[in-house]
Amino acid sequence: MSTSPTPKATAPVGNGANVLAMSSIVRRTTTLALFALIVVACTQCGGPSGPVDGGKAMAHVKAQVAFGSRPFGSEALGKTTDYLEGELKKLGLAPQRHEVMHEKEKKLIRNLYVQIDGDDPKAGPVLVIGAHYDTKVYAGCVEWKHSGPFLGAIDGGGGPAVLLELARVLKERTPKPKCNVWLYFIDAEESITWEWNDEKALLGSQAFCQMLSDTKQLSRLKAFVLLDLIGSKNYKIDKDGNSDSRLQALFATAAKEMGESSRVYEFPTPQELDYYTSQGIKWGTKDDHNMFTRFGVPSVLLIDFARRVPPHLQNLKPGQAAQIDPRFQQWWHTDEDDLSAMDSDALAFAGNLVMQAFPALEIHVLGKK
Ligand SMILES: [Zn+2]
Repeated sequence: MSTSPTPKATAPVGNGANVLAMSSIVRRTTTLALFALIVVACTQCGGPSGPVDGGKAMAHVKAQVAFGSRPFGSEALGKTTDYLEGELKKLGLAPQRHEVMHEKEKKLIRNLYVQIDGDDPKAGPVLVIGAHYDTKVYAGCVEWKHSGPFLGAIDGGGGPAVLLELARVLKERTPKPKCNVWLYFIDAEESITWEWNDEKALLGSQAFCQMLSDTKQLSRLKAFVLLDLIGSKNYKIDKDGNSDSRLQALFATAAKEMGESSRVYEFPTPQELDYYTSQGIKWGTKDDHNMFTRFGVPSVLLIDFARRVPPHLQNLKPGQAAQIDPRFQQWWHTDEDDLSAMDSDALAFAGNLVMQAFPALEIHVLGKK
């Protein structure tokens, strides 16, 4: 995924607000012990409050990471497809493969999807929840400046792990979903070139949407929810400028109901948005939801991207300050994107946020002609 454009570097913001909130809490409390409790409560993620199990999701991340780096077309990614398919079958589901050779790249696209039946499994409306499971290619990249292998625990591992948990939860759920739900494991999201290239990224979702269009299924799809960069410590979700605002609002409401509003839509900051507006720039993140939008499906991206990009990948202009916020580890596309950067509660929170929003998503999907 890529932001367009490169965000203007700004001094860390948000910390000030946190410090202010914290000091007002302190004023209202009298003991240090209570303060310590509050600090712990504020730094943990409200993950466990729902049916999605962070421990189970983390086990799925570990299983994927054990295959090593998993770029598009690799043997390791093929093993990952088999793993995901096997886990879905264990749940009693019937996953389907959409595999197609990408002629230019001479690599096999392996999309995988599974339906959780609604009231009308054959012709009824569909809610798609997706996540890419390929990892950034690094071998042969002259720009690659890191010593260790790129595992992509968060970027490529966390999203599909949460989808597997959503499969389990939705299969067991009472009442069963009224609309059909497709859980879609997306191949070839990452740009094959190190720098983002529109012609060499989002190849999996492009082929998938084209197939759905060719087979006249596309009109059944009423909403697409994309999870990307899932599972980081101090997990948050940014407000993407390329997402459907009605769908975006559903997740703000769900987060509020969970008491987790502070994790949602802090970035981009009002100052950043002002800057983009002043430059005539439309803020947004390029990711698989753009493809669904292009094919006419209202889409929303839930991503934890802002402040995760290390300074050497920020494309800074001379004199421009790097965006660094000590609250957020900057692991994106580096060898720091490994299991040690993850938090199982973050995986649970992402999944439980989707489940919290699910009744509203259902209404949205069923109401759309
Ligand atoms: Zn990536």
